[in-house]
Amino acid sequence: MARKLADYEAKRDFKQTPEPGARVPKKEARAPRFVVQEHHARRLHWDFRLEKDGVGVSWAVPKGVPPDPKQNHLAVHVEDHPLEYFKFAGEIPQGNYGAGHVEIWDEGTYDPVKWSDREVMVDLHGKRLQGRYVLFRTRGNDWMIHRMDPPQDPDRKPMPQKLEPMLAKLTDKLPAADDAWGFEFKWDGIRAVAFVDGGRVRLQSRTGEDITPRYPEVHPMGRALGSREVILDGEIVALDDKGRPSFEEIQQRMGLTSETEIRRKMKEVPVTFMVFDLMWQDGHSLMERPYTDRRKALSGLKLSGASWQTPPYEVGGGKTMKDASAKAGLEGIMAKKLDSRYEPGRRSGAWLKIKNRNRQELVIAGWLDGEGKRRGHPGALLVGYYRDGELVYAGKVGTGFTDKILDELNAKLKPLATDKNPFDVGSPPKAAHFVKPKIVAEFEFVEWTRSGQLRAPAFKGFRVDKPAKEVVREGG
Ligand code: MN
Repeated sequence: MARKLADYEAKRDFKQTPEPGARVPKKEARAPRFVVQEHHARRLHWDFRLEKDGVGVSWAVPKGVPPDPKQNHLAVHVEDHPLEYFKFAGEIPQGNYGAGHVEIWDEGTYDPVKWSDREVMVDLHGKRLQGRYVLFRTRGNDWMIHRMDPPQDPDRKPMPQKLEPMLAKLTDKLPAADDAWGFEFKWDGIRAVAFVDGGRVRLQSRTGEDITPRYPEVHPMGRALGSREVILDGEIVALDDKGRPSFEEIQQRMGLTSETEIRRKMKEVPVTFMVFDLMWQDGHSLMERPYTDRRKALSGLKLSGASWQTPPYEVGGGKTMKDASAKAGLEGIMAKKLDSRYEPGRRSGAWLKIKNRNRQELVIAGWLDGEGKRRGHPGALLVGYYRDGELVYAGKVGTGFTDKILDELNAKLKPLATDKNPFDVGSPPKAAHFVKPKIVAEFEFVEWTRSGQLRAPAFKGFRVDKPAKEVVREGG
């Protein structure tokens, strides 16, 4: 056709004349479309599709489309999809390929900038996504997706990789200005900070240790958060047979490392992540904002699942809350100043813990021989705490041990044996066997005596999450 009309064409300049040209205009008036579908398949991912030559050229992006040019995400090239798929949202039934929920995360049009079989550069005009992206092939079907423009949100900051949780001061009195405080139940478990990004959860202990693999039941919380980027503060608790958080129970989950052991124990002693603060959301720190704002943003996340919950807080009514906590057999309550900011790593007076019983972490630095049934095992532990870098003797503890704990004590303490008295202050008994002060455990007791010793202490459990050097005497 074009050949035959060559003479006709050559005589005319179609930019100047309104006469029809020989070529049927190929350029479509409509810009090509793109879609990003959030796909809750066995593994959460986002399907990124570009309309091209009558099909949807597709990539599966496990962590979603990156908002920041500093982070590139893997994008696995998958088979072309029909254009009708761009409107698909719903449920792919169990047993089918890609079974799970699909929703449209973003859609719009794009301008192609470059397109080859190794590099695709596009300007996106979506509801969420605007700006230039490039997808480039690394090997086989593996591509990367990279944002070329600055972040859409100019104030967006990269999420911190580490964050020490804020700590509370121990007190035995409720705060006076009751209505300036928020009250929460105190959860007796393992403190954890959760970093969630691209649907994946990473759990960090108080000391910064990665404890993610230990609590698989908390991982699906990531999926519930979809593409949201958050840092959460909370406590991982195990409930006893009366439904109360039990530190004795969670100990069984704390030290596990083998995956099969974790999976097995997970059935016996399931845990729940009790979330009580939100320090980061979608590129922004919330830590300078008051407690009430952070709690509001937290409740907006609607975190309520099989193994994660957002227990509410009460404004004022500390006394009622404390009575309720004692009645429910809980450890105590937390009081948090309503206008206080989040101070990572600080034991701030803006957070108070008020306990129903006295609890204290102490370092085990020796033992006394057991007698009778306890022969060959420690009869009592010699414990202490640090004050100005010196280890202070706090007394002996002879109760609260199960047979299993006694075996564990033997295994943990005997390799740490030393001839040197590790206590810098106080006088442990003459018959003491000393150990290097490395093992931390939690104890319950009635009160501190005037000479600075524990009255009627009992062993509650090991604290593998607490470094010995950080053990200090809490409260009066
Ligand atoms: Mn998919």
